[in-house]
Amino acid sequence: MTFRAIRRALRRAAKVSLGAGAGAIACAAVAVGGVDGASIAAPTVHMPSAMAVAAVAALALIAVIRRAQYAPPTARAQRVSMWLAAATDLADLELALALVAGAHTVIAVTGGLGSPAYPLLYGLVAFSATVLARPGAIGTLGAALVLEAALLVRAGVTEPHAFAAGLHLVVIAGAAAAHALLLRGLTARYRHRRAKRLEEELAALATSARDYRLIASALGPASRAPRPRDEEERLLAIGGVGMIGDGISWVLGTVKRSLGARTVALLWIDDDGEGVKLKEIASDADDITETARLSSAGVLGAVLRDRAPLLVGATKPGQLPYYDGGRAGVALVAVPIIDLADPAQPDPLHIRGGHLRGVLAADRDAPFTEADRDLLTEASAQVLRAVQAEQVFRAVERAKYEHERFYQAAALLGRALTVERVLETAFDAAAAIVDYDAGVIALYDKAKSRHKVAALRVREGGAGMLDEKALLDLEFKDNAGLASMVVKNRHYLPAGGEPREVTAAIYTRKIAFDDARSLLVLPLLVADEAIGTLTLVARTEKRFGKDVREMLAVIANQVGVSLQNGLLYRKMETMATTDGLTGLTNHRSFQERFEDMIQRATRHNHKVALLLCDIDFFKKVNDGYGHPVGDEVLRRVARVLQEVPRKIDIPARYGGEEFVVVLDNVDLAQAHAVAERIRIEISKVVVDTEKGPLSVTESIGIAAFPEDGRDRATLIERADLALYHAKHTGRNRVVTWQESVAAKAKKAS
Ligand code: GH3
Ligand code: MG
Ligand code: MG
Repeated sequence: MTFRAIRRALRRAAKVSLGAGAGAIACAAVAVGGVDGASIAAPTVHMPSAMAVAAVAALALIAVIRRAQYAPPTARAQRVSMWLAAATDLADLELALALVAGAHTVIAVTGGLGSPAYPLLYGLVAFSATVLARPGAIGTLGAALVLEAALLVRAGVTEPHAFAAGLHLVVIAGAAAAHALLLRGLTARYRHRRAKRLEEELAALATSARDYRLIASALGPASRAPRPRDEEERLLAIGGVGMIGDGISWVLGTVKRSLGARTVALLWIDDDGEGVKLKEIASDADDITETARLSSAGVLGAVLRDRAPLLVGATKPGQLPYYDGGRAGVALVAVPIIDLADPAQPDPLHIRGGHLRGVLAADRDAPFTEADRDLLTEASAQVLRAVQAEQVFRAVERAKYEHERFYQAAALLGRALTVERVLETAFDAAAAIVDYDAGVIALYDKAKSRHKVAALRVREGGAGMLDEKALLDLEFKDNAGLASMVVKNRHYLPAGGEPREVTAAIYTRKIAFDDARSLLVLPLLVADEAIGTLTLVARTEKRFGKDVREMLAVIANQVGVSLQNGLLYRKMETMATTDGLTGLTNHRSFQERFEDMIQRATRHNHKVALLLCDIDFFKKVNDGYGHPVGDEVLRRVARVLQEVPRKIDIPARYGGEEFVVVLDNVDLAQAHAVAERIRIEISKVVVDTEKGPLSVTESIGIAAFPEDGRDRATLIERADLALYHAKHTGRNRVVTWQESVAAKAKKAS
């Protein structure tokens, strides 16, 4: 210790003990007879005595004022200096000694042992026994007893004097004892009331939380902003932790006040059961450790090991894990927190006697009693209940959330009718369940044992995970890959949702899913048959947890059924718009598309040509070769009509053995050329029949938009007129409407 440190310590000691010292000197002065009532009350005032009385009275007054204004040193200051740590007790002592000296002065002045002012002293002792901490209370009692003895000696130890003094001593001791007992009783009642209030408040807390959540759920999901699952989980956790924190810190604060503890700490065992962390703490000390995860449980390890309460009179250095310096010499009480009803850990035979959750500990300077330990045990039950209540809330809330998401995903799929919509919606529905980064849907053709990628989606954060070019339109045969296995087993893979569980490729060896740390390939099931697979990948690990996997499996089934419906819808639509015999667009659909094309050509100001084709002498085919051969001829003619024009043109079966071809964006000369090619190609068609090879020819009439007509009906009528002209001028020919009009005019002239 340096000289300066010693000087500082001395200054501190002097400062905090000055008042108590003055009180002690006053007591000593009164004891040795510094104030003599007789001399003060005498006709000629004895000046030194009068001055002593005045000094004691002033001291008592100053002590009262000083104590009323006293502010205890900060916790840090108390830790630094033992004098500062004792400052509060010394202040109490100052007040006690000054008041006792004052009271005895009054007693001395008013007649010594026979003074009527004794009740003042009794009252003083009772007051300090009730209100002051132990040092102040003991100081008051001690000073009163010493001064009483001194008074007896001064007055002379005669029998009546001894009797009077004895009586005073008995009453003083009695007053102190009665009030100390009263205090204990009051404290006990106070504690009891507190414990009851604690229970009531916890119940109210639970109720209000439930009410709040019920209101939130009554509002329905639509009125709340939809949040991604991760966000929702996070909010639930924060809300839950907040509620646990509020409930528990309230319990800890109450226990701390009830026990007069310096610190009450809740240590919780980690989920993995290995470490201990400081979960919540109520403390006046400011050397609480800042790291929540404790390196060791210190002396509290014994509580965890033995699952039994612990009372320690004075801790050794470093034994208290939640103080940075490990504070020594403080009294400690600690109880285990044991979860007797833990549904997650069934223990029907009570072999383990419940599940150990943590330790509740309290410390202070004065030793703890067994009653304190029992209070702490009760509080530990409250803590456990608070945590459990919150866990239940969280489970219920999560389940509710999952139902909402589930319903939403299912509703989305229910609204999707076309295959394209279903494929798109499947990705949305999966996103309602889990935040994946990229997804691919492949359809499976059972007859051909082939998989074909039908759709893919790259979400935010999934950039670069898929080789989109290689995947789109990827087709592959059944192989040893995951998708093939999933279709075969009709169950999702990998079982745990992590790619490291499997070595097989997902589709083919050539297709890699980069950076996938979570992976799930789900079968799209329809009545126990997989019609495809939904593959989801994410960059983060453990994205597809068990509950997520199960929900996705159900959603994938729904996707399967919706997809099946979509395929059916597509088939029905095809049936409604195509001709069954030839596969060409049917009459009704042709009329619609022709109308659309005229509208578009009108808007964009370009040309359209209509070719009306009729097979020559088709009745003879039917009559001579039979109807089935006639049908075959129709099919072959239809194929020519499909092959010769370009993709943007519409070949259609107009009815019977009449066909139409609409050519978009061609002038009359171009249309004529196409028609000629069609005519020639058809004449080359040879159908093998029992009666030998069969060939047919066709006549074609042409009307052009806009020059021959601007609407559908006129164009069809004029193409028909041209065809009629072709039939009547030798068949196997192409005739435009304008040619037919010109020919008629020539004939007429
Ligand atoms: P033209 O050269 O004047 O056209 O003589 P045509 O014999 O072809 O006469 P028309 O165009 O009137 O003949 C229509 C015939 O086509 C009547 C019908 O028997 C036959 N037909 C219509 N639809 C079908 C069909 O779907 N299959 C078969 N095999 N024949 C059909
Ligand atoms: Mg005909
Ligand atoms: Mg015909």
